[in-house]
Amino acid sequence: MASAQISLATDARKRAPIRDILDRALAGVRLSDHEAIALIECPDQHLDALMSAAAELRDRGKGRDVTYSRKVFLPVTNLCRDRCTYCTFRKDPGDPGAWTMMPHEIAQWSRRGAELGCKEALMCLGDKPEVAFKEYRETLRELGVSTTIEYVARACEIAVAEGLLPHTNAGLMTVAEMRTLRPLNASMGLMLENISPRLRASGGVHQAAPDKDPALRMKMIDEAGALKIPFTTGILLGIGETEAERAQSLTAIRDSHERHGHIQEVIIQNFRAKPEIAMADAPEPDAYDMARAIATARLVLGPAMNVQAPPNLSPNQIELFLNAGINDWGGISPLSKDYVNPEAPWPHTEILGERCARAGFKLGERLAIYPEYINDDWLDPAIADRVRAMHRAIRDRSVGGQT
Ligand code: SF4
Repeated sequence: MASAQISLATDARKRAPIRDILDRALAGVRLSDHEAIALIECPDQHLDALMSAAAELRDRGKGRDVTYSRKVFLPVTNLCRDRCTYCTFRKDPGDPGAWTMMPHEIAQWSRRGAELGCKEALMCLGDKPEVAFKEYRETLRELGVSTTIEYVARACEIAVAEGLLPHTNAGLMTVAEMRTLRPLNASMGLMLENISPRLRASGGVHQAAPDKDPALRMKMIDEAGALKIPFTTGILLGIGETEAERAQSLTAIRDSHERHGHIQEVIIQNFRAKPEIAMADAPEPDAYDMARAIATARLVLGPAMNVQAPPNLSPNQIELFLNAGINDWGGISPLSKDYVNPEAPWPHTEILGERCARAGFKLGERLAIYPEYINDDWLDPAIADRVRAMHRAIRDRSVGGQT
């Protein structure tokens, strides 16, 4: 894979002019890896043209509507067997802040979220802690389950009972585990982060993170598609990858979506340095790294894809990211912090709405499942009526002029 990547980067130097690639993307032509790499690596003088083509494609598919999901973030457990060097979320048992949410806590947070208008319960947690920690296996036993995913299913039941729609991102899951969660989830997710196996090698950010093997992650993303699960994935910028590897990650996601049609949104997320992590001094991607990746994502993935960037990680770049082709801001919570980036507060939706409006966009709420997936092909019958009723309520409120 590494030598294939090098040869693609080398070949990309003999590439077509950027304008020709942009015109091909605007004409609906499927871009090759070489073309995607040429776009993301384009010289600065082409950046305006890159963003403007991406924005034109976004406008064709999404118009000037931009969305967000009102959510409560439930860190079911922050214990994790992996050790990604950029992570501040994970803990070992006994660490300050180590937390496995008890059922009553999940109920309380879900209820409070529902009272504040949240529709989504984001179940976000560490990967397979029961494999690594005896103390946690004991916790699961006391809770009457034997695996984390069994406990996530319980957490989803609680959130559903409180009126929310779960979206689970529990790391790598098996087909059987995803089958168990499908009736309890509006959608699920797994960040690809990056397709490059280099990041798992010695000295890489994922050296001690077996669940970050990109082949395993692509396998799960494909399996979710085969199970007809509306799925969220994305890339993480600034973890040691090259620009070419960012582009190749986007084409890999596009290819999976072509096989199954299940990728409902693609997140372009930037690494943020924090004092307590091993990568405390690593450089963060700048706004233009993000704009290049967002625009390339739009041009690779096409007008129909939902392309998202988290507004709390780049609060000064709202207008830039809209101009680069996004149409979604992801989950925003009035209640719980972003446990993955706890230093980065969510924007107030009123203020975000005003900034979008000044840039010529209308901010609106969506569910954890996008409207294009609210049909019998994608919805599990167990949750379909709830999803449809909540979607109608959001739509009626939006017609009434509220976001
Ligand atoms: S990023 Fe996810 S998988 Fe990696 S250490 Fe943190 S919680 Fe675990």
